[in-house]
Amino acid sequence: MTAPAPIRRIVIVGGGTAGWMAAAALARLIPAGVSVTLVESEEIGTVGVGEATIPPIRNFNALLGLDERDFLSRTQGTIKLGIAFVDWTREGHRYVHPFGEFGFDVEGVKFHQIWRKLHAEGRAREIDAYNVCALAMAAGRYQPPVADPGSILSRMAYAYQFDASLYAKYLRAHAERRGVVRVEGKVAQVPLRAGDGFIEAVVLEGDRRVEGELFLDCTGFRALLIEQALGAGWESWAHWLQCDRAVAVPSASPGPEITPFTRSTAHRAGWQWRIPLQHRVGNGHVYCSADISDDAACETLLANLDGAPLRDPFLLRFEAGRRKRAWHRNCVALGLSSGFLEPLESTSIHLIQSGIHRLMALLPDSGFSPVERDEYNRLTDAQMEQVRDFVILHYHANERQDGDLWRRVREMAIPETLRRKLDLFRGRGRFFRHEDELFAESSWIAVLLGQGVIPAGWDPLADGLDENKLATSFERIHEMFARAARAMPRHEEWLARNAPAGTTA
Ligand SMILES: Cc1cc2nc3c(=O)[nH]c(=O)nc-3n(C[C@H](O)[C@H](O)[C@H](O)COP(=O)(O)OP(=O)(O)OC[C@H]3O[C@@H](n4cnc5c(N)ncnc54)[C@H](O)[C@@H]3O)c2cc1C
Repeated sequence: MTAPAPIRRIVIVGGGTAGWMAAAALARLIPAGVSVTLVESEEIGTVGVGEATIPPIRNFNALLGLDERDFLSRTQGTIKLGIAFVDWTREGHRYVHPFGEFGFDVEGVKFHQIWRKLHAEGRAREIDAYNVCALAMAAGRYQPPVADPGSILSRMAYAYQFDASLYAKYLRAHAERRGVVRVEGKVAQVPLRAGDGFIEAVVLEGDRRVEGELFLDCTGFRALLIEQALGAGWESWAHWLQCDRAVAVPSASPGPEITPFTRSTAHRAGWQWRIPLQHRVGNGHVYCSADISDDAACETLLANLDGAPLRDPFLLRFEAGRRKRAWHRNCVALGLSSGFLEPLESTSIHLIQSGIHRLMALLPDSGFSPVERDEYNRLTDAQMEQVRDFVILHYHANERQDGDLWRRVREMAIPETLRRKLDLFRGRGRFFRHEDELFAESSWIAVLLGQGVIPAGWDPLADGLDENKLATSFERIHEMFARAARAMPRHEEWLARNAPAGTTA
């Protein structure tokens, strides 16, 4: 029996972040002889938001061989050490989700377990005091991590905040240099093959036809191929994630300081993001349209900016949920066409990245093995559900007294998978990461504790350790971490010295 022939033509439809990330990665990884064509329409444009990321984006950029400083400089990029959550747990409360690890485990006992015990006895500070990223966030400072595990700086992790349209442009140049062909035009028809219903080609206005064997749907919320042409189906999660609109606006930077983190502030009917870039600040108010009008949401956004708005606010509508099959027939949906979770933990760009990695690991030949397709869909589903649960946690575990939204999400039935995690943590602070789960234990612990989910007890193994010694070493850890944070340059100074906007070749 001869093996099915390899795929020779890949067509990407859509030139937003998803389309150009896919094009750049394919250009880097696909064997010679396979053509990659990207179709996009300038007239339609892109979603125009999406500026904050999480640490794995560094692996994606490294895979492409991008120079970090050049990338930061070309995308007005800044460093993100975590997210500050303001008023989420209750009004007047603040906590951070830093990217780095908390403290050090002792004799196999988790750091947060020992912390819980000492904290209950008044012998430990708040948990942020033992995280070097949290301390650097508070000080507005940054220094790259080092690989040496003996150094405190090895406990750091970071991501980026950047102008997404500049990132797409940057990746476009990268992809085109490596042979990706860009076609400008609006897709008007998607003819399907008789028999198996596979996509045969996309036909642009003016009748230009672009044929392919594998199609990547990167058309954003339109989901032109995966849904409009193939009807892969949609599973709504709007009953859990009830926000369905956002108004966004860039504003002027309030001063020379550039905070190395994203801020998320809860409001009566949603929350507002603040993402500092080198040349401006990105802002948006994500809200539930059942609880506030668009005009009032806009007023809230504008009233909570710390610099002058640089344009009129623009409105985005969405629904939380996922495509029932992200890979259907010969089409794989990446980006907003595959599903959407609100940007609370900045996960959308990461979901594009992990979709690309999965596709590369399961790249089909012309036989389009259903087993490989099903594995892709299974892994995609699992990851979306894990991220969904993490985002729901922020809403569900709240004590806010204003607004109907907060009461509804507090009282709603949550997914069983999240319920199990919460119950386990509430008992003795136990946490287990499941099958390639995106967010590390330290992220879950930061948000669980931050949202006021305090374990009733702790791991009994912590009782076997010398408490006095632990209390002393906790203080030493804090002092070491705080000293390391204080010694870092201010974030804006580091940027000015290493990656000032628009200065690299
Ligand atoms: C309010 C909000 C805030 C967000 N914030 C973040 C964040 O902080 N971090 C993060 O990781 N993600 C964020 N996201 C998600 C992020 O914006 C997207 O994941 C990312 O931009 C990818 O979008 P996309 O490429 O899938 O779609 P789009 O940017 O919408 O691109 C779609 C492309 O398809 C093309 N197209 C559509 N129809 C046709 C047609 N008929 N013919 C030809 N071309 C066509 C368009 O021209 C465009 O090029 C946010 C999303 C929203 C809604």
